[in-house]
Amino acid sequence: MKKDKVTAIVLAGGSGTRMGGECKKQYMLLNGYPILYYSLKAFQDSPVDEILLVTNEESYCREELIEKYHMDKVTKIVPGGEERYESVYNGLLEIEDSSYVLIHDGARPFVTREIILRCIEEVKVHKACVVGMPVKDTVKIVDDKGFASYTPERNYVYLVQTPQAFSYPLILKAYRKVIEEQVPGITDDGMVVEYLQEKKVKLIEGSYQNIKITTPEDYLTAKAFLENKK
Ligand code: C5P
Repeated sequence: MKKDKVTAIVLAGGSGTRMGGECKKQYMLLNGYPILYYSLKAFQDSPVDEILLVTNEESYCREELIEKYHMDKVTKIVPGGEERYESVYNGLLEIEDSSYVLIHDGARPFVTREIILRCIEEVKVHKACVVGMPVKDTVKIVDDKGFASYTPERNYVYLVQTPQAFSYPLILKAYRKVIEEQVPGITDDGMVVEYLQEKKVKLIEGSYQNIKITTPEDYLTAKAFLENKK
């Protein structure tokens, strides 16, 4: 076993219903490539040792992404679950001998090598890290009638992104606990570790371009980012 082996779990098991349209969002084309291509490529070209891809479209991904673009770090394709956290857990259970795991939304095509390197470096120190960026707008917490109940101080509010990076034994233990206890409302991996209360989760710098493509507006924004890169 390689010392400090790092596995990336790339998630593409969602249905992408908020995008509308026939095609699941992670497979829509951006500049001629499926959205998922960009995140797989970023991990393929990074120092991570292997990639587990979570998807229910195994043959499409094998033919149109992994074989076509020689993504030879993808060692396994794992089926997705009903909810994101179930897809993550399916991936975690397939990891054999890694020390660290980076969990990434396949619908975030603008993850960069720098962000991945930062995650690998920081997870070795902190054991649990999520990338994020400070909010630019003021955030209000509202009550269930839609009235503002609290305005957090802006300096302390971050929007979190992926990758989220963890020591493998820690994240596995944390996921086992939330699944056993059927904890509701799990929307990211950091909160799973927060629930375990063994290790604090460190925020590390992501990028304002590292957006998740969820709605048609995000797709237009992504196209503009790529145009700008050209
Ligand atoms: O639904 P959401 O936008 O939070 O999805 C974030 C990522 O998680 C996407 O890349 C999506 O494909 C993935 N996902 C998954 N399995 C699910 C739901 C979402 O792999 N059941």
